[in-house]
Amino acid sequence: MFEDLQQSLQALHDRYRCLNEGSVAAYIPELSKADPDGYCVAITLVDGTQYIVGDQDTQFTLQSVSKPLVFGQALTTAGRNIVTALTGVEPTGGSFSAFEDLDDEGCPLNPMVNAGAIVTASLIPGNTHEDRTKVINDMVAKYTGAQPTLDQAVMDSELRTGDRNRALGYLLKDKGYIEGSVTDALNLYFHQCSLKVNTQQLANAAATLANHGVNPVTQQRAVSTTYVKDILVVMLMSGMYNYAGRWAYEIGIPAKSGVSGAIFGVIPGVMGIGVYSPRLDEYSNSTRGIETFRDLTKQYNLHFLGPDLQTTDHIIDPNT
Ligand code: GLN
Repeated sequence: MFEDLQQSLQALHDRYRCLNEGSVAAYIPELSKADPDGYCVAITLVDGTQYIVGDQDTQFTLQSVSKPLVFGQALTTAGRNIVTALTGVEPTGGSFSAFEDLDDEGCPLNPMVNAGAIVTASLIPGNTHEDRTKVINDMVAKYTGAQPTLDQAVMDSELRTGDRNRALGYLLKDKGYIEGSVTDALNLYFHQCSLKVNTQQLANAAATLANHGVNPVTQQRAVSTTYVKDILVVMLMSGMYNYAGRWAYEIGIPAKSGVSGAIFGVIPGVMGIGVYSPRLDEYSNSTRGIETFRDLTKQYNLHFLGPDLQTTDHIIDPNT
């Protein structure tokens, strides 16, 4: 079924490398330094076969793509009852850093918005920042197949400009959704967002979720099979910011995007897809990334409910 995958990826890359809509994120000043034309597409199948086209050496920060991984780690260390008491699993409300992302009690709607991700970061155990970052780095390494490095400049930029995240953190503490130090939780959250990967590693991480929690290239387990469904459900409902509904409708792949221009998508039992291209649309999703996934889902029938339920642009016989 995937014999022609490398040629398909090349054709996709040729098609969309001229798409210049959108702009690179600038609200974290360091991110604005990314080359707007950077573009890379990678796939890792659950048998470990890897495909890649484009800027394969370019590294970028995980940003919000780290959120589903840290959610899984919080489930692993704190358990489902505690995690779901402190963050909901309701679809995204406002933008990813909005105060509308909290319900009437002040509980984050889900772990894919910043508020929920700050809560899951607060659940990572360790006595020091170094202990906690080691847990995160080792976990990310199992997903990607390589020890991640920190982009200190991005981390410093987030530390300098992350006032809204700080405000959310203190509100969450006041409402009882964070128990320990808000500063510790925020520092870990900024750290997880500032870890660097390349696009093949991004696809490996997605393939790990597609492969029941085991990295298909290294055979290392990153997360228990038990929690893979938890992760994929919140990715499907809330992974693409305020575009999540349209994404589920048209593309139908559990996925997560980040403001660096990364998107990773999971086809359970089949493959993981990673796309990097830093120009973002009005929802903060990579413009080339969205179109790349849209093409792939059509070409290979990847929608999670099957090809028949994909949107159609013609009127069909109501009796069929
Ligand atoms: N570090 C970013 C922030 O907190 C992550 C946002 C994102 O990728 N959506 O604003």
